[in-house]
Amino acid sequence: MFEFSAMTDKKIIIAIDGHSSCGKSTVAKQLAQQLGYIYIDTGAMYRVVTLVALRNGWIVDKVPDVKKVVAGIKDIRISFRWDEKLGKNTTFLNGENVEEEIRRLEVSENVSPISTIAEVRKEMVKQQRENGKNKGIVMDGRDIGTVVFPDAELKIFMTASPEIRAQRRFDELKAKGIEVSFEEILANVERRDKIDSSRAASPLKQANDALILDNSNLTREEQLEWAMNKVKEIIEG
Ligand code: C5P
Repeated sequence: MFEFSAMTDKKIIIAIDGHSSCGKSTVAKQLAQQLGYIYIDTGAMYRVVTLVALRNGWIVDKVPDVKKVVAGIKDIRISFRWDEKLGKNTTFLNGENVEEEIRRLEVSENVSPISTIAEVRKEMVKQQRENGKNKGIVMDGRDIGTVVFPDAELKIFMTASPEIRAQRRFDELKAKGIEVSFEEILANVERRDKIDSSRAASPLKQANDALILDNSNLTREEQLEWAMNKVKEIIEG
């Protein structure tokens, strides 16, 4: 569908930010595959830190013990491996495959408070920049275009209505056989939006030079086409 052979030499950084469950990772994965780029899911990184904190009892009633979390991050090694068969990234914590576990609702419920901790963000951002130093990368998250790569050549800010996002997450979990109610998911989506947008450290906000992609009514193919046209304009421009 896309003819990009002549422009693959020029590698860029693509930063995709936006609210929870609005399809950032779908677009990011599609772009990385089309362009032969590395894909980094930064939400997965904050989820891994949350998982470690939960396993160690560093979170009580959704309140993290900041000192313990900060002391613990140095022992956390996060890596990703592309699973060709499943067509998706798999997340590893110190070599252990935690991909399924980090998507559970318990982790979703506790990840936003963990990601408000400035020291956690500092360490994650350091690792994220390390991954992007050779360009040829698509990274999705909340602060990629504003903090991690403010000079990214292409910044996309994605959005969709909370109901549509909750429905997508609900369908995903249901397909995996995980029992949750739609209302629970919607409440989680809205709560995360609120915490992510209002926190002091690197709140979710649109970079001034980001392009908005509202995919409430777009198919996967349409949103990929939209994004690939933007890439094309930049690389050929
Ligand atoms: O993208 P995902 O929904 O998996 O991210 C989980 C959580 O991690 C978000 O709700 C947000 O609190 C946090 N996050 C962040 N900064 C990023 C990526 C994710 O604070 N760059």
